[in-house]
Amino acid sequence: MEQPISGIHHVTAIASDPQRNLDFYTEVLGLRLVKRTVNFDDPGTYHLYFGDEVGTPGSVLTFFPWPMAVRGSSGVGQVEVTSFSIPENSLNYWERRLLSAGMPAERGKRFDEEVLTFIDPDGLKLELVSHPQRAGAIQPWKDASVPAEHAIRGFYSVTLCEQGYESTVDVLETMGFREAGQQGNRFRFDVGEGGPGARVDILCASEASYGNVAVGIVHHVAWRVVDDDSQKSWRRRLVNRHLNVTPVIDRCYFHSIYFREPGGVLFELATDRPGFAIDEPSGKLGEALKLPSWLEPSRKRIEQVLPPIELHKPAKRAEA
Ligand code: ZN
Repeated sequence: MEQPISGIHHVTAIASDPQRNLDFYTEVLGLRLVKRTVNFDDPGTYHLYFGDEVGTPGSVLTFFPWPMAVRGSSGVGQVEVTSFSIPENSLNYWERRLLSAGMPAERGKRFDEEVLTFIDPDGLKLELVSHPQRAGAIQPWKDASVPAEHAIRGFYSVTLCEQGYESTVDVLETMGFREAGQQGNRFRFDVGEGGPGARVDILCASEASYGNVAVGIVHHVAWRVVDDDSQKSWRRRLVNRHLNVTPVIDRCYFHSIYFREPGGVLFELATDRPGFAIDEPSGKLGEALKLPSWLEPSRKRIEQVLPPIELHKPAKRAEA
């Protein structure tokens, strides 16, 4: 019997300029660059991973920066918004901080929780959801310019924009999700222990048009499986539901399978291990370009193609 899917593992989106992407997530949002590598399926493109101090599953937002690409459009079959968790009294802090970075945010309320909505420099829609502290495994980045008491505590949820409902819910239920609330056309589901980080909202938008994946749009959502055996077992279960699931693919820092849920969003199931310290010391995460062994022979050519980027380690500051 497989272990339950325990929540969001990572979210991957498309950016444009890698330096601007790096600066925003490390300096404004206070996430740590935990891996500087390439898209293994397209090694001329960076793959940048931002997360907590060690890249704990559930904290990691990753990007494929495509410098020359056009903006995508959001719509049906896509992740509408990616939401992070922040402490209960941090909303004012973040509102000021985003404003001073030139990113005005909008306040809202949903299911009794306060929400700050904004877009990143490439138009990616993000939220910070404030709620009482949970005893989580997230370790805020120690060198961040965001004070620890306001630090982002990993993901809160992802919201999928869907034309329909039943077929996606059917797959979610196969994956162990259960209903956790409804507000208007928003249907909330929890998995594993549930709550922040183990949550997906379906926004039913029957009139909306289909979006397209390009800059500022989420490419896929990965869900956590504890180990390889569990992943195999989940794979069998999904294949039995007639989903077209890839074989297990070695992503170095985790092992992955992919399938498209019936509403159109690309899902991944990724293992918690081995994690980001497998190819560099945890004190030096993100400082050097890391390549998987099979791309190491092409390192010279890859380094020539990639635009140079520089990680500015922000000095610790007390204020926004
Ligand atoms: Zn992924």
